[in-house]
Amino acid sequence: MTGTDRSQQLFDRANRVVPGGVNSPVRAFGAVGGTPRFMAGGRGPYLTDADGNEYVDLVCSWGPMILGHAHPDVVAAVQDAAGRGTSYGAPTPGEVELAEEIVARTPVDQVRLVNSGTEATMSAIRLARGFTGRSKVVKFAGCYHGHVDSLLAAAGSGVATFGLPDTPGVTGATTADTIVLPYNDVPAVELAFGEHGHEIACVITEAVPCNMGVVPPLDGFNALLKALCERNGALLVIDEVLTGFRASASGWYGVEGVAGDLVTFGKVMGGGLPAAAFGGRADVMGHLAPAGPVYQAGTLSGNPLATAAGLATLRGATQAVYTAIDRAAALVSKAASEALTAEGVPHRVQNAGSLFSVFFTGEPVGDFDSAQRQDTKAYAAFFHAALERGVYLPPSAYEVWFLSAAHDEAALERVLDALPHAARAAARAV
Ligand SMILES: *Cc1c(COP(=O)(O)O)cnc(C)c1O
Repeated sequence: MTGTDRSQQLFDRANRVVPGGVNSPVRAFGAVGGTPRFMAGGRGPYLTDADGNEYVDLVCSWGPMILGHAHPDVVAAVQDAAGRGTSYGAPTPGEVELAEEIVARTPVDQVRLVNSGTEATMSAIRLARGFTGRSKVVKFAGCYHGHVDSLLAAAGSGVATFGLPDTPGVTGATTADTIVLPYNDVPAVELAFGEHGHEIACVITEAVPCNMGVVPPLDGFNALLKALCERNGALLVIDEVLTGFRASASGWYGVEGVAGDLVTFGKVMGGGLPAAAFGGRADVMGHLAPAGPVYQAGTLSGNPLATAAGLATLRGATQAVYTAIDRAAALVSKAASEALTAEGVPHRVQNAGSLFSVFFTGEPVGDFDSAQRQDTKAYAAFFHAALERGVYLPPSAYEVWFLSAAHDEAALERVLDALPHAARAAARAV
């Protein structure tokens, strides 16, 4: 390792011109302390920072890089597209192909392309409200759907009452139509429908919550949401921004088979460029402008570079890719658990297929309250010890450890070598 001087200098400069020095909060290492590494490049499973340190990357841009960094097919597709101009503000062949690819793999009949997962969920909720003519939205504590105002809500005083703003800048009026419920809590969902059934436009849920760490749905939970929505004339919005094209070729839908009336996508479908989408039943999507009255638009939506990267990534994500990632995830999660057990560090590995996270608590985690009982100091020590050994874990205890098809034996070996060292550091911090 060659130190962190350049990253520190860049962070100092960034702090002068960018709030907190980063363009998305978790990148600042606030949860683990220390100097965030400024990355200069990536190749396959590796990242290289501005000081020349190389890391095995277990963040993978928070999910998108399912083929690894700078995959030759993706690079070639983007270069080829760039040579033909970067944006036209008119429809393109690539958008049609990407939409067809998504429709072929998932339960949706139609999709609208947007630029970020946040836009996808924001637009899906607007469409659900426009379609049903209702106002209220049910969401679950600990599920993250991007920084949509009405979804940055915390639970109010009672179970089925209006939500409260979760951040300054979001007004009480904006969250008053948001009902926030504990995840996996069937009676709470039934109560909310009992009290507000005729006012609920939609329930939005992560297909598998992954943004409080991995918290698998109880058996039948998603199917129950679907049934309750159907019975009450509400729509089910399944957020597959993270799980889509990662949990399987058709996302978590491919594992569990519960189809949302609307589904949101992002991350993998952009192959590392800004692309996302929301889609769903043809009768619902038909309410979207210009086919219908619900307005939604975007200057760069369906951008030719982003659609090229997304198509190359989806086409590259063959069954062999998912098999390789499943195997790598099983290997790394088992090794992490063994290393922590050997050092007596209380922990839980929770997974949904190849998506897994490590909670630094001995108790099972079924919702946001239990997720928050983990020892984040122990994680910070674990994280930094791994980083010292050239393994870049998510800089927060609440995140999935992401793998890619490029994580070959050599890269995985490095991870396995670093884990006992990281576990010893965690044991010292417990
Ligand atoms: C990342 C994420 C989002 C937000 O996507 P952005 O592209 O960051 O706006 C929404 N929902 C889920 C489940 C996510 O993981």
